[in-house]
Amino acid sequence: MWISEIFYTVQGEGILLGVPSVFVRTSGCNLRCAWCDTKYTSWNASGQHINVEDVLKKVMSFPCDHVVLTGGEPLLDKDITTLTHLLHQENKHITIETAATIFNEDIICDLASLSPKLSNSKPQGLSEDWIQRHEKQRLQPQIINKWIEKYDYQLKFVVSEKNDLQEILQLLESLTNVTRQNVVLMPEGTQAAALYEKSIWLTEVCKEYGFRYTPRMHIDLFGNKRGV
Ligand code: SF4
Repeated sequence: MWISEIFYTVQGEGILLGVPSVFVRTSGCNLRCAWCDTKYTSWNASGQHINVEDVLKKVMSFPCDHVVLTGGEPLLDKDITTLTHLLHQENKHITIETAATIFNEDIICDLASLSPKLSNSKPQGLSEDWIQRHEKQRLQPQIINKWIEKYDYQLKFVVSEKNDLQEILQLLESLTNVTRQNVVLMPEGTQAAALYEKSIWLTEVCKEYGFRYTPRMHIDLFGNKRGV
């Protein structure tokens, strides 16, 4: 597997906020989000090649039942299915964090954390080819539907501005069987002060529409750092 980092911390986002978890972060991504906070897995991907048994061994070295497979885009890794089966045999709770542009019905996953990318993710300063690839791939309702049908899920949106809400509502209309309590809105940003500012109006949006709000707790606790 192409691994960027493996570390033990508490989940900082979403419905499992605060749960101690081992994070396995793969490198490589098929998108290039403008505000990506892990460019070392996408725009400038790097990492170590580690076989899947050694990844498992590293995960098992932490005293923890929850494992989060994240990226980058973990679904790109050819060994991700095997890793989920090995983790399942060890009775781990598995969250997969994905942009939901790729579906894999063979993985085992207890929570699919789906984070479809809105137009606020459109990159700048890249080749026209990459911009077009990003725009073509970032939002694929038919793939999101497959995830929702097969796995327990949360639908997590990164919100930059109030206008993003219209796009979210439009997407939800095109999806089948989404319950609003599974829709999680998260402010975009990597600085605690900017996140706080957005949280004021974003929590009001959540109250109005029955969505969940999630902070980015790891930014509040540790700042914009790797391995936390
Ligand atoms: S999908 Fe995630 S890892 Fe990939 S570019 Fe977007 S934010 Fe970064």
